[in-house]
Amino acid sequence: MAAWRWSPARLAADFIAAGFRQAGLAPCCNGSYLQEFPLVAPVADPTASHLLYQGQKLAYTGTFSQAVDLRAPLVFAGYGITAPEYRYDDYRGIDAKGKVVVIFEREPQEANPTSVFLGTGLTKHVAPRGKRLNAQAHGAVAVLVIPSPRTTTAPAASDRTPRRGGAPLMLDEALRIPMLTLTRESARQLVPKYTEVQAELDRTLRPVAVPLAGEVELRLRNRVERQGVTWNVIGVLPGRTQETVLLTSHYDHLPARDTGYYPGANDNGSGTVAVLELARRFAARKQKPRRTLVFVSFGAEEEGLLGAYHYVAHPPFPLAGTKAVINLDMIGRDEAHTPQTEGRVKVPADTRRHLNVLGGAYFPGLLKQLRRANTKVGLELDEKYDHDSSQNALYRCDHFPFLVAGVPDLWLFAGWHPGYHEPTDTLDLINWDKMERVTQLAFTLAERLAR
Ligand SMILES: [Zn+2]
Repeated sequence: MAAWRWSPARLAADFIAAGFRQAGLAPCCNGSYLQEFPLVAPVADPTASHLLYQGQKLAYTGTFSQAVDLRAPLVFAGYGITAPEYRYDDYRGIDAKGKVVVIFEREPQEANPTSVFLGTGLTKHVAPRGKRLNAQAHGAVAVLVIPSPRTTTAPAASDRTPRRGGAPLMLDEALRIPMLTLTRESARQLVPKYTEVQAELDRTLRPVAVPLAGEVELRLRNRVERQGVTWNVIGVLPGRTQETVLLTSHYDHLPARDTGYYPGANDNGSGTVAVLELARRFAARKQKPRRTLVFVSFGAEEEGLLGAYHYVAHPPFPLAGTKAVINLDMIGRDEAHTPQTEGRVKVPADTRRHLNVLGGAYFPGLLKQLRRANTKVGLELDEKYDHDSSQNALYRCDHFPFLVAGVPDLWLFAGWHPGYHEPTDTLDLINWDKMERVTQLAFTLAERLAR
């Protein structure tokens, strides 16, 4: 069943592992540099699946890793968010036990600069995975998501369809209940005035009662549940303590198509090469760091940060002692507008020395240290994606699972550009001077953090 055991991903993982070995790093996991994790790729069988409400079919998108048969009452739970730090709880006064919860996607007051949910920036609560875990924690048996009528999100690039049919999911996921997204029409069948309901939620930040009579019947079947494995590559430079500082990238990219393959020079050849170079530079120094340096290249980032989620669920070193994560993804190009960013975010005219930083809104202390390290490097640091909701940047990269787990992290990101996730992300377009500077910045910061 291990259909992907011999694969381009394995070739890349072995290449990186060899680099870590040559640099002199120790292996992470029982003598191996590879942390293996299982995947499943379900392909839904639409003819054998349905979602029924009061005898009517509700159209939806989404799959689950296994067959589902359930009949349960419904309960409306706002955005499905429990955020004590913002004194906000959509589940206040609601009994979700044994029920199918109906929630909005996104988070409250997204476009409001004075929102407690970090103004116009996004918070960790916006991500679907957390909403699903929250529903589970409240005893729900399934989640139905209403597409937000008020959304500031840019339309996805045509080639970036995060949940394409047959895409791998993690097999040993903490996620035990299915989550399906309703079409606008079927959402209206359930909650006819959902636009007004959302407006009231955003105005009051208090649960809005929406009575949902009757039950839903959900039957899900998959035609195929292809199973396989992939790997995180992890090399260790032992320090004098068990505390760690992580330098990370992802090495996977998009699968080849009939139209050709995707070189992924910037996404994320750039970050992966930088992590290899950082491993060499740190390992070559005579002086050992006080904290242990861990170099990680994640697998299956493009499938939904699966490698990073696996690391956080199965950390080779305790997360409590993980002092910082510096994630490098797309560090080698000059940011330029794409149809997704045009008119939504501000991109400077000259971006040759420009670098975005994400996560500083959550970890201002770490951001301060980055700024200090940058005084020698001379990059122009930009925090715009911490204050933007249109690109979903906060939860689109491997730093995010660490952020959710409360581990201080930053994503160094030179920004999107034409050719992103296209076959034209090629080596000749890399800005080597920028790559060298970002690598130097990560080195200086990690060096200070590990001291
Ligand atoms: Zn990437």
